[in-house]
Amino acid sequence: MFKKIVVLAALVSLFSFAAAAQDAKPKLIAIKAGSLIDTVNGRVLKDQVIIIEGERIKAVGPGLAIPEGADVIDLSNMTVLPGLSDAHVHISGDPTQGIRSRSTLSGVQLATTSHVFARRTLFAGFTTVRDLGSIEFVSLALKRAIDAGSVAGPRMLVANYYIGATGSPADIGGGSPLTGSKLPPEMTGVADGPDAIRQKVRWNIRLGADVIKFGASSGVLSDEKVVGVAKYTQEEMDALVDESTRLGVKVAAHSHGTDAIKMAVKAGVASIEHGSLIDDEGIRMMKQRGTYLSADIYVSDYILSEYSKRGVEEIVLQKERVVGQKQRENFKKAVEAGVKIAFGTDAGVYPHGMNGKQFAYMVQWGMTPMAAIQAATVNNADLFGMSDQIGSITAGKFADIIAVEGDPIANIKLLEDVKFVMKGGTVYKGAARR
Ligand SMILES: [Zn+2]
Repeated sequence: MFKKIVVLAALVSLFSFAAAAQDAKPKLIAIKAGSLIDTVNGRVLKDQVIIIEGERIKAVGPGLAIPEGADVIDLSNMTVLPGLSDAHVHISGDPTQGIRSRSTLSGVQLATTSHVFARRTLFAGFTTVRDLGSIEFVSLALKRAIDAGSVAGPRMLVANYYIGATGSPADIGGGSPLTGSKLPPEMTGVADGPDAIRQKVRWNIRLGADVIKFGASSGVLSDEKVVGVAKYTQEEMDALVDESTRLGVKVAAHSHGTDAIKMAVKAGVASIEHGSLIDDEGIRMMKQRGTYLSADIYVSDYILSEYSKRGVEEIVLQKERVVGQKQRENFKKAVEAGVKIAFGTDAGVYPHGMNGKQFAYMVQWGMTPMAAIQAATVNNADLFGMSDQIGSITAGKFADIIAVEGDPIANIKLLEDVKFVMKGGTVYKGAARR
C-alpha cells in the first residue's frame, strides 16, 4: 500500500513536471523591421521579419510567416539594428558622483549606485560592454546580478582590477586610502616585475576576470606630468600577455604613448585603448597583427567642457587639450590605413548612457556611418570573442535588438536616441505590442 502511494505520487509529480515544462516553452516574438542594418555585410535590408524564440533569434528574412501565438512588435517605420556594444567602460562610477569617483569612493559606495549606470547604458541601446577596471569586484558583482536577472543592464565582460606598475594609472589617481599601492597587494592591481605580474593575472582571472586590462603607458587624467611614457618594460608586457593568453583571456592595453603602444602590440595584446600618440610604424604593426584600436575620441570634449568647472587641475586639462586633438588626428590615420577599429568610449569618465555620442566623432574623423556601426557591433563582437553570440541579427545569436526612428546611415546622431531596446528576447524600452 505504502509502495503504491509512492508510485502514484511519483506519477503525479511527473505529470505536473511535464505540464510545467510545457508552460515554460520559450515565448515566440516576431519583430517587423522596416529597415534592418545587416552589420555582417554592411548593407541595409528592407521589410524584414525577425522571429525570436526565448532569448535567441530563430530566423530573419523578408516576408517570414508569423508563427501562431507569437507576440508581434511592429517596428516597420523604424530602423532596426543589433544591440550596440562598448569595448571600454567603467560602469562602477560616473562623474555625476564627483570627478574621479572611481578612485576616491569605496567599493561599497560604488556598488550602491553602479546598477543605475548599468540601466542607463542598456537603455541607450548598449546591450554588451567590456568593463575595463573596477575596484573591489564591484563590476563583477554587477555582472552577476545582471546575469541573474536581478538588475537591468548590459551583458558584461569584466577586467576586475586594472593591472599596472607602481606609479602607473592603475596606482596613481586618487586620494583614497582604498586604491593603489597604499593597499595590501591582494586589494590592488599594482604589480611590478614579470613574476608578480603573472601572479596578478592569475589572481584576477581566478576571481572572474573575462579580460585583462593593464597600463602600458602613463595617463592623461592621472596626475603624472608626462603623457605616454611606457610604464612596463617589454619583458613585463610579454609576461603579462603570455600568462593571460595561455589562460584563454584576451588583453586590453591602456596606452597613449608612441613606444608603449608598439611594445604592447609586440607583446600581443588584443586591443590598444586610447592609442593617442600612435605613429606610422605603430599603425603598420597594428594592421599587420590585427590588433584592434579602441580610441575614445568623444570623451575629450566632455572633459574639457565639464571637468574645468569642477576643479580639475590645469595641468590635466592642458594634457587633455593636446592629447585629445592628437588622438583624433591619429585615429583618422589609423582608419585610413585599415587598422581594425573597435568602439570603446571610456564611459564613466563621462556620464553613462551617452555612449552613442561617439558615433558622430568617428564619422567626423574618417569612418563611414556603416563602418562606425560595424565597429560597435561585429568588430566588438570579434574583439570580445563573442562573434557567434552578438553583433548581428542572425539566427542563433542572442536577440539583442535595438531600433531608431529614421535612417542612421544618413544621420548617425540618431544613435544617440535609441527608441527600442531588447536584450536576450526581453524588451526593456519602447514599442507597444499588439
Ligand atoms: Zn578607461
